Amino acid sequence: MAGVSRLQYSTEIRLIRVMCSGRVDLEFILRAFSNGMDGVFIGGCRLNECNYITHGNYDALSIVLLCRKIMEHLELNPERLSIEFMSSGEGILFTEIVDGFSKKVKELGPLGKGEGIDENELKSKLAEVRELIPYIKIVKRKKLASRLENQEEYDGFFTSDEIDRLFGEVVSYHIDPAKCQACMICLRKCPVEAIAGAKNQIHVIDQEKCIKCGTCFEACPPRFDAVNKISGEPVPPPIPEEERTIVRKSRTK
Ligand code: SF4
Ligand code: SF4
Repeated sequence: MAGVSRLQYSTEIRLIRVMCSGRVDLEFILRAFSNGMDGVFIGGCRLNECNYITHGNYDALSIVLLCRKIMEHLELNPERLSIEFMSSGEGILFTEIVDGFSKKVKELGPLGKGEGIDENELKSKLAEVRELIPYIKIVKRKKLASRLENQEEYDGFFTSDEIDRLFGEVVSYHIDPAKCQACMICLRKCPVEAIAGAKNQIHVIDQEKCIKCGTCFEACPPRFDAVNKISGEPVPPPIPEEERTIVRKSRTK
């Protein structure tokens, strides 16, 4: 509406249109910051006025609240991320909000510099968090599906302690070579093909590819119990390829 009505607004914003604010993933926001954006603003339809049964604007709100706490954890000012809800007919409101956000971000200064964080340090911190996005979304999936009704609920939704714990207790998965029976169940179920293995070959998790979904942990038959959950200590190195073959006892009488 702002464009159709020829309303003027800050030239410093770059508009990216999506079908629904619920499409804005945590990855999109953190990627924008990694690419040097100083602020991210999300405009969504008014809550409870969603055109879809999914009510994606609630998802967008939850993601923003989570991301703002992650930003605090990274020592970035969470005011650099904002979400507002308005109807498509509220062009004047849109321009006012965008101009206000643009002004605020200018006052905060360039991302990182404004907070006194070294550029390279910030880049590597953002890269580390982005790698953990699937894990974060799995761990917080129940909370992210909540529908928050008022400011009070927004404020207490994610706490700083909770986010510090989230990063302090990151879980990794490791297959115990002494227990793996090469049944291939975990390999077939892994959603990102992070498990290497074959028939009669001890399976190994590629930690670079693993998104920490825990599927292999759940899938490994209890009689083998070969997948370990590890937190707070280093993951053992993978067993060398030449030692992965399982020699089974023959059934000869
Ligand atoms: S935790 Fe998930 S992603 Fe990682 S190896 Fe297991 S199944 Fe694959
Ligand atoms: S499911 Fe368990 S026993 Fe089977 S291949 Fe995977 S880790 Fe090994």
